[in-house]
Amino acid sequence: MTKWDSLLGHSLRRTLARSSVAVLGLGRSGLSAARLLLDTGAKVFGSELEKKNCPKTLLKRKNFLAELGSHTEKILRQDLIIVSPGAPWNLPVLQAARKKKIPVWSEIELGFRLAAIPNRIAITGTNGKTTTVSLTGDICKRSGRKTFVGGNIGNPLCDLAIRKRPCQTAVLEISSYQLEGISKFHAQVSVVLNVTPDHLKRHKTMSRYAQAKERIFLNQTSNDFTILNWDDSWCRKMAAKSCGKVIWISTRSPLQTGVWWDPAENRILARLKKSQPVAFQPPRHLPGLHNIENSCAAIAAALSLGIGKRAIQESLDRFPGVEHRLEKVRTVNGVTYVNDSKATNVDSTLKAIVSFRAPLWLLLGGEDKGSSYKPIRELILSANIPVKGIFLIGEAATKIRSDLGRVCDLYDSRTLSRAVKESFRKAAPGDIVLLSPACASFDQFQNFEDRGRQFKREIRDSALFPNREIGRCP
Ligand code: ADP
Repeated sequence: MTKWDSLLGHSLRRTLARSSVAVLGLGRSGLSAARLLLDTGAKVFGSELEKKNCPKTLLKRKNFLAELGSHTEKILRQDLIIVSPGAPWNLPVLQAARKKKIPVWSEIELGFRLAAIPNRIAITGTNGKTTTVSLTGDICKRSGRKTFVGGNIGNPLCDLAIRKRPCQTAVLEISSYQLEGISKFHAQVSVVLNVTPDHLKRHKTMSRYAQAKERIFLNQTSNDFTILNWDDSWCRKMAAKSCGKVIWISTRSPLQTGVWWDPAENRILARLKKSQPVAFQPPRHLPGLHNIENSCAAIAAALSLGIGKRAIQESLDRFPGVEHRLEKVRTVNGVTYVNDSKATNVDSTLKAIVSFRAPLWLLLGGEDKGSSYKPIRELILSANIPVKGIFLIGEAATKIRSDLGRVCDLYDSRTLSRAVKESFRKAAPGDIVLLSPACASFDQFQNFEDRGRQFKREIRDSALFPNREIGRCP
């Protein structure tokens, strides 16, 4: 126990005003934490591994010092350490800090302790976080609540604490990295969508990865709600560890209570108490069964907060989806191009493949994250998916080729640009060309957004597509 453990709100602000705090990692979340800390009167020491420029506005501020290019022992001279989601939790300097009993918090922990928000919905999972957070946020807004949507997407939680504008509900996307650094963080509604192989270079084993995810309900009580996926074996194992009321979601089986998919009637059913289930029409603009899963979670979260059916259904009807997630770019000569650049792991690519019935051309590859690509082969063969060909790009191409074997024609396109051009030549009217790479993007792009934008630009700008041939998305 340290004096920091119990500090929240005003008591924390008062203590910070007399303290010096290190912020590790000066990305978007770290910078937000640094600004919030400076506003409380704390002395802030920013430490960033990359030699990138720290914003001048921050460097000019009284009480701010920064080191760029390394994390030095100076960090150990501070009273508290805030860690950005990008910084590894087991950095030697953090291990040394723990030995010295210096508290180490993630940015979300600091934001939680300083932002007064009556209702908090926290959402984690390997895949579907951003979509579910955005949809849930949309539902909350349509119900008339002043809503903050952020965390790992959009604005960091510390931004909300800086703004001090009143906000009724916060819908927060939380990664396993942020969860490793929470101690008091609490949400009345917490959601774990799924746990499938990803980030294993950082967490080492699946069970350690799942343990990080289940920290989302660490501080929940019997008044709170924990929404878990009945179809996911890791989520099922977690249920016993939550003190909250567990609400199950499922796209595979009808449930006694919970929120589930009823394929026979093409509707989602929700029953939180022993009464008649309430029926919802599925989301109009989100393709695929995995988006039904995300919608079930959003419905469960909204109902737990007492939001009525009307706002929920309106959102399911109107929510347009999120950029780079199964985003229909356009149809050219009858071929539809879909940007799923955010599919940075194998599971999300599997979900993308089964979201369409038309013949597919897949664009796969990028930076390998250590998982096997064999599940893609198994899915294509077992479900008889009409994949006409696969264009391989980036560093992982050789491994993907060896894992996929002779599942269909494989082409070594190497770059995204060549893959798009080749797909243009080969695809026939009615086909879908799907960028769903199953890999990280950093070998050839700044990030997945950059990859998705370049894909869209290739399609739009390529001289191969004269304007008169460009049609609108169906
Ligand atoms: P996250 O924020 O967890 O990365 P996103 O909503 O951004 O989740 O989606 C990431 C990728 O995963 C996209 O390719 C998307 O199509 C796919 N996806 C979305 N929801 C799910 C889900 N429930 N299960 C598996 N894959 C999903």
